[in-house]
Amino acid sequence: MTVTVATLGFPRIGPRRELKFALEKYWAGKIGEAELREAAAGLRTAAWARQKALGTDWLPSNDFSLYDHVLDLSVMLGAIPGRYRAAADGPADLGTYFAMARGKTGAGDGCGHAHGSVTAGEMTKWFDTNYHYIVPEIEPGQTLALGRLKIVEDYREAKAQGYETRPVLLGPVTWLSLAKGHGVDPFDRLDDVLALYADILRGLAQAGAAWVQIDEPILVTDLSERQRLAFTRAYARLARTGPRLMLTTYFGGLEDNLSLAAALPVAGLHVDLVRAPEQLDAVLKAAPKGLLLSLGIIDGRNVWRADLDALLARLEPVAATRDLILAPSCSLLHVPIDLALEPKLDEEIRQWLAFAVQKIAELDLLRRALNDGRASVAEPLATAARAAAERKTSPRIHDAGVQARLAAVTPAMRDRQGSRAERSRVQAEVLGLPPFPTTTIGSFPQTADVRHARAEHGRGHLDDAGYEQFLREETARAIRWQEEVGLDMLVHGEFERNDMVQYFGEQLSGFAFTIHGWVQSYGSRCVRPPILYGDVSRPAPMTVEWWLYAQSLTDRPVKGMLTGPVTILNWSFVRDDQPRAASCRQIALAIRDEVADLERAGCRAIQIDEAALREGMPLRRRDGQPYLDWAVDAFRLSAAGVADATQIHTHMCYSEFNEILPAIGAMDADVISIETARSQMALLEGFARYRYPGEIGPGVYDIHSARVPTEAEMVALMRLAQHHLRPEQLWINPDCGLKTRRWEEVRPAIAAMVAAARRLRGRG
Ligand code: GLN
Ligand code: ZN
Repeated sequence: MTVTVATLGFPRIGPRRELKFALEKYWAGKIGEAELREAAAGLRTAAWARQKALGTDWLPSNDFSLYDHVLDLSVMLGAIPGRYRAAADGPADLGTYFAMARGKTGAGDGCGHAHGSVTAGEMTKWFDTNYHYIVPEIEPGQTLALGRLKIVEDYREAKAQGYETRPVLLGPVTWLSLAKGHGVDPFDRLDDVLALYADILRGLAQAGAAWVQIDEPILVTDLSERQRLAFTRAYARLARTGPRLMLTTYFGGLEDNLSLAAALPVAGLHVDLVRAPEQLDAVLKAAPKGLLLSLGIIDGRNVWRADLDALLARLEPVAATRDLILAPSCSLLHVPIDLALEPKLDEEIRQWLAFAVQKIAELDLLRRALNDGRASVAEPLATAARAAAERKTSPRIHDAGVQARLAAVTPAMRDRQGSRAERSRVQAEVLGLPPFPTTTIGSFPQTADVRHARAEHGRGHLDDAGYEQFLREETARAIRWQEEVGLDMLVHGEFERNDMVQYFGEQLSGFAFTIHGWVQSYGSRCVRPPILYGDVSRPAPMTVEWWLYAQSLTDRPVKGMLTGPVTILNWSFVRDDQPRAASCRQIALAIRDEVADLERAGCRAIQIDEAALREGMPLRRRDGQPYLDWAVDAFRLSAAGVADATQIHTHMCYSEFNEILPAIGAMDADVISIETARSQMALLEGFARYRYPGEIGPGVYDIHSARVPTEAEMVALMRLAQHHLRPEQLWINPDCGLKTRRWEEVRPAIAAMVAAARRLRGRG
């Protein structure tokens, strides 16, 4: 029996983020379309060459995208909403594509209105990853028709260079499941969509493709009857059309959908054995003899080196009975490209890691061990085994002090002392705030000066003292301005922070950082998640000095600003050798220490941001509540150590709050600020229905737009808020993200916001 290696998809952005820079130059008009396409083609060629050299048998094509692979497919199917057709210079050209991706500003008319401007498609998270796709839209009555067949072009491009590839195509059921239908169920269009898929597959067959990787990650979620029926119908039709289909599932186990998937008339099935290792036996039992199995055994979502011996022990009996493909659990899109680009990483930590390139090398090793025997690769296997063994015991990872502290956590440590009502009474006394108190979410503009100073400091051109002095001046200016404009609760401005997670990760033990470990978040935007490798502790206070300095400049309360444990966890690569919940609890204890130190220093209001709490929700409904339980628990552990008089704030970004309202209530924060400016306060309905007991600051200023809102608009929004909540519950603040705006926009907007609050107070 033979074992081969597939990769499912390679990072697109390039080892030095070449795609990002080419896109930005193109958008800025500095290069033309030809140059952009040339840069993209260069990246594709390099990716094929790299994967081939590393030993990939099944090279992917069409995994590359200029912006987003879901958008590529929508455009290929002609799902282009009318608003873009009107704004387009031609049919589905690059201009239309980027208008759908990022919106387009037309020519201004001098009074703030733009002609020919069009908003971007909605962007949302790709399953439970940090990658964002553009939500497909199908308008009522919209004609779907094939546009340029990018997938066929990419296949031919590879072939012309001597690479035989297996094109990657997002499957019809997943695409329809992600689509929004503007009042109509996208599945009403199933047959139209299938006709187009059949044409695409025929086109690929004509071009010579023997196999197509058809991705249906929706198969690892709870499916409706309509989705199940669609699977049967779709694959009955597509499986006969041309190339053989490798039905590819990832981000979880098939579970109750296994019999459905195994019965589809496809030629191959890829399963995720990293998220769901236990499904192997069931898959083997359900898979017909002729079905080619692709086993996702290397983690495509995380950065750890695999335990190859353990994997071989599982794979050897399987490989003895059938042909196998070995693959990462999912596309390698979600991990950084190459560990070799990280010369500064600690050597001990480095040996535990594997990025995309190293993961393919692991697959190659496993294949050789299975095809030619372990002895053929004895040495690299021994190295991997040594790394795995050291990781199990290294004192870099395992800290007895942290373990002891965790063991000593009692349930009472998650509870505040007084009831919400008692707390609210003492806090009112201590803080003495007016009705409708005004505040902001934490950051102020990260101007070119701020970024420049940080970069100079990073390069060593600006010494610590000089940088510190610069930041102090920025902070002092921000405090002075907040007093002048009349805000009630101030913030220091977060000028010293590069990123709300990285800033804390850098000061906690147990985290490592990369230089080039970028992962695509959306389009040209990349993030560099910290790597949480070991037990977490806080060697020293992280924010107290900055808070003390800011508070020393004013008599008004300055909020302490922290990032919460769940958000730090969700935006990092985390340990795979213990449950996420355990890592989260460790971070919570570290934040709890910081909260205690802030309180001791005299801080009367502490905000613990949980921007990413909602997005950590698992894909299966039944896993939702257990996740929320430990997430809320961790937040409470971080926050509840304070006296009743200390006001705990939290903040959450725009998200579907309704299903998690009980959890938000259970966090027991005294004040929560949320993003609502775009929703006309509709989000507050849920809070009202649920009788949310705490204080709420619904955002009244949509900071995502350069537009400065008027006092009247914000008064109107706050009156809407009062339809849902009692006036005593309400705070007034903007949405989050002031760091992305300019001072020229922030100053008048916040001044108008303060004026709005005064007007509301005047009328009582
Ligand atoms: N305190 C952070 C800020 O204001 C919160 C950012 C966020 O919610 N994403 O920038
Ligand atoms: Zn936010």
